[in-house]
Amino acid sequence: MRYALNLNKDEDEVEVSHSGEIGWCGICNSKVQGKKGDERVAHWAHINSKNCDSWYEPITEWHLWWQNQFPKINREAIVEKAGKKHRADILLQKDNKEIVIEVQNSSIPISQIQKREAFYQNLIWILNGKSLANSSRLVRIGVDRLYTWKIKFPLLLRSRSEYLKTEFIEDIVDLIKNRFYDNNYHDYKFQDTTLEIYFYHHNDIDLQMDIPQLKYNIVGYFEMHNDYDNIDNDELHHKLQISYTETKVDLQSHYLTKSYWRKFIDKMKCNVFFDKLNGLESDELYWYTKDKIVKKDRFISKYQKMAK
Ligand SMILES: [Zn+2]
Repeated sequence: MRYALNLNKDEDEVEVSHSGEIGWCGICNSKVQGKKGDERVAHWAHINSKNCDSWYEPITEWHLWWQNQFPKINREAIVEKAGKKHRADILLQKDNKEIVIEVQNSSIPISQIQKREAFYQNLIWILNGKSLANSSRLVRIGVDRLYTWKIKFPLLLRSRSEYLKTEFIEDIVDLIKNRFYDNNYHDYKFQDTTLEIYFYHHNDIDLQMDIPQLKYNIVGYFEMHNDYDNIDNDELHHKLQISYTETKVDLQSHYLTKSYWRKFIDKMKCNVFFDKLNGLESDELYWYTKDKIVKKDRFISKYQKMAK
């Protein structure tokens, strides 16, 4: 750990000043010894007992950098709930709610993720992309075309809701996402009987040839899921209108290629951000939960406002 009480316990927790220095653990009150050398970041280690906080992970320069963006009182702060104590990497507060940022450099068992999220409740994970996702990459692409598929379903039944249920529409969006440019899928809109699906692409493509196949797939989908015998497939095929438009845009887009992806990351229910991920600039974070690239300084200043 980074901080401990000094030998006389007469001030707030301090960092190690020299190797061999003796102090006291703020959680279990047992003796700790300062380690300061070239190989590892200066830290306090328990002398007799094992590390009392089972959630502890060795501190790195990267931990220090993140903690140092916040006042000392917020770093490695002890959180106590129902008789249990843990050290949060960064502890903040907003509207009487505690917010914890955990800076994670190494793999963590899924059972511990669940315990930590339940214990801290308002938790933000910052993962080190270098150590945890080094084979994966955020690929940036310049985008200059927006393609809009327009699919107009005929009113075959008295009420459109009988066959144009939300789940059917979402399946059809998936069908098109899989058939076309999944990575560049942007959004869809469904109104009345018209479905619009938006894709970005980085150059001019001719989709005209794809329309018959797409029509065939959609009719096939309804044929498979048709619980309403009165939908006539030939009539659907005949009346289904499919077209697309192309609009010029000037955007940056990105997608994540996952390789040797660690399963535990997708078990995190709280917000997950990546630092140092391949493809990210050093002043950026990747908000994995929302698939967004955010500026690191904006993230930090937002949370600095919640420092005690
Ligand atoms: Zn201890």
